[in-house]
This record gives sequence, structure tokens and C-alpha cells, in this order.
Amino acid sequence: MTQSAAVLGAGIVGISCALELQRRGYQVTLTDRRGPGEETSSGNAGILSYSNITPLADPSLLPRLHRLILNLDADFSMHYPHLISLFPWLLRFVLRCRRKTFLHDGDAMAALTLTSIDLHRQWIAEAGVEDLLNQVGGLKLYRHQATFLRDELERELLERCAVKHTLLSADQVYQLEPDLKPVFARGVSIDESVSIRNPEKLCKAYAQMFVAAGGQIRRAGIQSLRQVGAAWEMTTDQGLETAARLVVCMGAWTPELIGQLGYSNPLAIERGYHTILAPAADARLSRPIFDVDSGYVMAPMEMGLRVTTGTNLARREAAPDPRQVARVIPRVREAFPVGDVIMQDPWMGRRPTVPDTLPLIGPAPHHENLWLAFGHSHMGLTMGPITGRLIANFIDSSEQPFPVKACDPARYL
Ligand SMILES: Cc1cc2nc3c(=O)[nH]c(=O)nc-3n(C[C@H](O)[C@H](O)[C@H](O)COP(=O)(O)OP(=O)(O)OC[C@H]3O[C@@H](n4cnc5c(N)ncnc54)[C@H](O)[C@@H]3O)c2cc1C
Repeated sequence: MTQSAAVLGAGIVGISCALELQRRGYQVTLTDRRGPGEETSSGNAGILSYSNITPLADPSLLPRLHRLILNLDADFSMHYPHLISLFPWLLRFVLRCRRKTFLHDGDAMAALTLTSIDLHRQWIAEAGVEDLLNQVGGLKLYRHQATFLRDELERELLERCAVKHTLLSADQVYQLEPDLKPVFARGVSIDESVSIRNPEKLCKAYAQMFVAAGGQIRRAGIQSLRQVGAAWEMTTDQGLETAARLVVCMGAWTPELIGQLGYSNPLAIERGYHTILAPAADARLSRPIFDVDSGYVMAPMEMGLRVTTGTNLARREAAPDPRQVARVIPRVREAFPVGDVIMQDPWMGRRPTVPDTLPLIGPAPHHENLWLAFGHSHMGLTMGPITGRLIANFIDSSEQPFPVKACDPARYL
């Protein structure tokens, strides 16, 4: 008899879990209040970078902690009323800003990232959406030598994890991207990185593969959850649903659902924004760039140049604060010939993050037939497919491809 599973949340993580479970022979239902990939998974920078392995808790943050707290830097802003409730999270984060933990967590992130990009390449080919894939690589750019030196530990991690990268002088940067303006002193090319020209289309293409193979997508808002014997019952705005096995992948919204079962909220919500600019008529950017000193990423996409911001730490549902976008636009104009801002109201997304930056992937610590996959922070688009694979391995008791203890949800729940 075919076994069944329900996946809640159709972002890149939920879609990936649904696909992998389906491929193991489960009849899978994927439920979301929106269409597939229309929330956080739609508006990100689209980068699947082999260098996306650096934990946020980096010792090099400590000397500029006061600048971050005073909202002086472009890559970070904090909403002060949120500070008190976030204090325990911040304390755990700061205590993790050590070389040893940075390298330990970075190793775990590398295992997830490197395998996941390989899976993405396979799935993109199977879904027939190779046109969404930009294989030119990615550039991390520095306006000041001092900032370049500050990131030394990060480069040590890249070496340690055998991530192919090239250190660049200013001249070499301009050879790769001739239309950049001469504001950069150094660069690091992440040679084999790829990026996605439209992340929402990618999610929808994967969801379409799932449906074409017999998977069901349901549009419903999940309101509550309760265990009935070994199975699960969900109240939704469309009525009651039941499931023999349940995987919760609701990104930043996961804690309020599993909080009903007694689990505490381990997340800080790093809100981030994007806007879209038109390139100037004769200018071309061939790969995503991260302007480190200015705190933005600019990625060439189908709809124009998508400029994404750093972190805005605030309550999840607080009103958007697009000042971060306004702050980086002049810096973008200094770096590259751009035309008009095409998107008037910036998009806002919510990155759910725990202090060690690693996602929570695995069985719920105190409940049978319940698995969790959330907290993917800045790397969820990259790590979707490997998350699906690990969850499917947990559910059908297959061997994991590498040690997964570092992602155990029990470390924070
Ligand atoms: C500005 C920015 C730039 C980024 N850049 C990158 C990048 O370049 N590369 C990268 O790898 N990652 C990037 N990320 C991170 C990445 O976008 C996220 O980690 C990823 O999208 C998380 O996917 P998810 O499936 O966990 O969450 P989501 O995409 O948020 O999916 C959660 C789903 O749950 C659904 N849901 C929530 N509550 C309910 C409910 N009650 N009932 C029904 N459904 C519900 C939502 O509708 C949503 O579809 C970026 C993020 C931001 C904000």
C-alpha cells in the first residue's frame, strides 16, 4: 500500500521535501496559503554559491559590534523596540563569534551547500529550465583593503572546504566586469558559483515536476495542529486535514505552529529587501556582485538588476522599513551605470535565523511522525534540495550522506 505524507509550506524547502518524498514512493500533499515559491523564496538574490558557507557569527563582527548596535553600517539595521525580546538570541549569537565555532559551523554548512548545488543542477535539467541558470560565477568586491583583510577567516574556511576561488586585484576585477566603475580595490571570484535568473520561476518549475508526477498542491492557511494517536490533524481555513506523517517547512512562520506543541521559538527574523533597477543602455553585468563595504548584492535577473539588502532585525510583522534600500541605491550608482528604479515599493522577505546559522532539519524532538525543516537564514534557496534529501532519509530510515547532527532541531527546541 502507498504510504502518505503531508508537507506544510511550499517555499523552496517544502517543495524540495515534497519532491524527494515523492521520489521515495510516498503519496505527498503540499499545502500553502499562497502559490509555490511566492513568499521568501521568490525575492532573494538567487545565488547558489559555493561560498555560501560562512556562518553569520563571525569573530570579525566583534570589533564593530558598537557600530551594528548604533545602526551605523549599511548592511545591518536594528529596530530598537525589538532589542529586549531578542536579547537572549543576541547573547547566544555573540558567544558563538569564535574562530572554533565559526569553522565548525562552516564545515557543516559546506556539506549542505556543496551537495545541494549538485542536486539543483540535476533538478534544473530535469525540469527543463536551464535558461534560468547563470553559470558565470559570482564576485565579492571590496572598496577598501582593510575590509578585504577583515574577511581573512572566511577565506580560510573557503580553502579548508576546497571551494574554488580566485583573489583578484582591481585590474582583474575590471577584466571580469568591464562596466563596473573604478571604486573597487580588491575582489574574490567564486569561480564555480551559479545563480538563478528568477527564483520564483525555479520554485514553480520544481512544483510543476511534483504535480506532473502525481503530487497534490493544496491552497489553505494552516491554523492549528494536534496529534491524534500516531497521526496528525490540522485545522485549516479550508477545513480539517489529516496526515500519517507531517513535515513542517513554514520558514519564518514555523515557530507559531509548533509553539502549539510546546516548542520554544529559536528564531531571529532577519528581514531583507529588494528593488529592481534597469541597467544603463550600454552597460552589462554578467554575474551577481556583493559590494561588501556598501552592504548590498546586485544580481542580473530576467526582470532587471535585482538589488538586495543586508539584515533588518525587527519583529516579523512590523511595518516594512525600506530605508535600507534607499541607503544603498546611491552606492549602487557609484559602482555601476544604472538607469531608473523599476520597482517603486521594495519587496520585503524574512530570513529565519538561529544563532549558529545552520537550519533545523530532522525529527521533532518530542513528537512521533513529525519532522521539521526551517531556519535556512541567508541560504535557503541554495539548501532546499539537500534539505529535502535529508528529510526523506530520516523518514524512510536511509543512511545520510554526511553527519547531520549539526542541524538537529533538538539543539534549539
Ligand atoms: C533579501 C534576501 C536575499 C536572499 N538571497 C539568497 C540567495 O542569494 N541565496 C540563497 O540561497 N538564499 C537567499 N535568501 C534566503 C532564502 O530566500 C530563504 O532562506 C528561503 O527562501 C527559505 O525558504 P523556505 O521554504 O524555508 O521559506 P519560505 O519561502 O518563506 O516558505 C514558507 C512558506 O510557508 C507558507 N506559510 C507560512 N505560514 C503558513 C500558514 N499558516 N499556512 C499555510 N502556509 C503558510 C508561506 O506562504 C511560504 O510559502 C535570501 C533571502 C532574502 C530575504
